[in-house]
Amino acid sequence: MDIVKLSGLGRPPAMDRRGGLQAWRTRAGEEAGPPRMGEGRRMIRLLQKSGQCCLSPALDTEGETGQNFCSSCLAWWSASHTPGCLAVARCSLPVGIDVQRHVHRPAALRWLARTTEATFQPSIGHWAVAEAYWKASGNARRRPAPGEFGLPRVPGTGWGKHAFDGTTECDYWLQEVDGISLALVLGPAPAIEGRRRSPIH
Ligand SMILES: [Zn+2]
Repeated sequence: MDIVKLSGLGRPPAMDRRGGLQAWRTRAGEEAGPPRMGEGRRMIRLLQKSGQCCLSPALDTEGETGQNFCSSCLAWWSASHTPGCLAVARCSLPVGIDVQRHVHRPAALRWLARTTEATFQPSIGHWAVAEAYWKASGNARRRPAPGEFGLPRVPGTGWGKHAFDGTTECDYWLQEVDGISLALVLGPAPAIEGRRRSPIH
């Protein structure tokens, strides 16, 4: 697996120095076949083993939300795959990452327009942002109900802010490269309680 670190992420607007957002993707041309089950978690483990998490990393998953986290340092991890690209992110805030190859998906985009009650025609970039938001908000194990969240009209590229649920603003980032949309969304900070504490770094 030939992995490159995403450059140009900069610092998300809402994060302080403890943020520590990092993301990686496979090099273009890698993983050319259809995505295989478990590849995202395999890539997370590879990065953890190569020193990208903490001294004694351990990958765990929240049963209810499906969100991945390191039970040692409590950083959140997210993974996504599309034909030709695997991508993962690590952050001290709940993070969702999504990659979507640019293919013609009119039915899926019509469904996205209905579900988000969009007044515009969503693109594959919108799809990636929607999936990343849904993961960051801890809902990856269920389908959204119509009107449950909305999308920014023009996601653009780089960092943006949007109140997907109509109240809480989240930072999102979108990159369009190699025929792939790559989106990152940072969820609201987790409650400080029990083992779900904010990591130190
Ligand atoms: Zn860790």
